[in-house]
Amino acid sequence: MRVTLLGTGSADGWPNPWCACSSCTWARDTGNARTQTGVLLDDAMLVDLGPDVPRAAARFGVDLGGLRHLVVGHAHPDHIGPEVLMWRSWSTAADRPLDVVGPPAVLDVVAAFLTRWERRAPGEAGSPLRPRQALAGNAIRLGGPGPDGDGYLVVPVAAAHGDASIGPAVLYDITAPDGARLLYACDTGPLPAATIEALAGREFDVALVEENNGDQPGFGDHLDLATFAADVDRLRAHGALTGTSTVVAVHLSHRNPPGPRLAERLAAIGVDLLPDGAVLEAAPGKRATVTLPSPG
Ligand SMILES: [Zn+2]
Ligand SMILES: [Zn+2]
Ligand SMILES: [Zn+2]
Repeated sequence: MRVTLLGTGSADGWPNPWCACSSCTWARDTGNARTQTGVLLDDAMLVDLGPDVPRAAARFGVDLGGLRHLVVGHAHPDHIGPEVLMWRSWSTAADRPLDVVGPPAVLDVVAAFLTRWERRAPGEAGSPLRPRQALAGNAIRLGGPGPDGDGYLVVPVAAAHGDASIGPAVLYDITAPDGARLLYACDTGPLPAATIEALAGREFDVALVEENNGDQPGFGDHLDLATFAADVDRLRAHGALTGTSTVVAVHLSHRNPPGPRLAERLAAIGVDLLPDGAVLEAAPGKRATVTLPSPG
């Protein structure tokens, strides 16, 4: 499974373009911008689609035309910008079928927007969009073995993030056709016990875990450096992560210390800090290899 980090930042991005704090000033002055978190798997599946994500794809030279499955965790506007689906409908990919997987609130947001602007909700006659409801514990198979299937297994698990009006929010346990496994844990506060139990023994090859709050806890239902470290420990203790798992912190905001200090803090707990545009090649049971984006 190829994992392309199109974005690793918070809703407001890091730097927040309005902000003069030392963390934003560092990010701005050193050209270390991070935009809304979203990740492309094998050019076939996109997990989260905030309005920044297609722009990031354009900037990194990534073609989204082959996308067959869109998977969204909750209905905060940095995770689903429904206007993006309208803009897709102006492209050569317009008529290609696209699964839209998300909890009820996500499907509602997409249906309301497209009904207003295109007079056609996903699932209606003529729409290429195929809505699929994601509820914690209900496994979803996308594509499938066979000539035109690609067989991703997507298992939503409960997040600790907001109320039903944005979800109920879920995180995703995703198995690619080659057997590589990804944990996408974004957004969430400290993981619910039921989620740790559901993930036990999964031995993820790559785990993308949100760490929005840095050293400034108390903003929304998010992890900070202390609760993030505690949850990574819990995942390791339950066999969700192993010695070969690559763990990457995402959904990073200016509540974090500047990059070099953050990288040190994360390295001390065996976690990677990667820039937007980094690509991981994951294979079952092996350490992922990482390619950094070329400058410019
Ligand atoms: Zn978010
Ligand atoms: Zn700031
Ligand atoms: Zn959120």
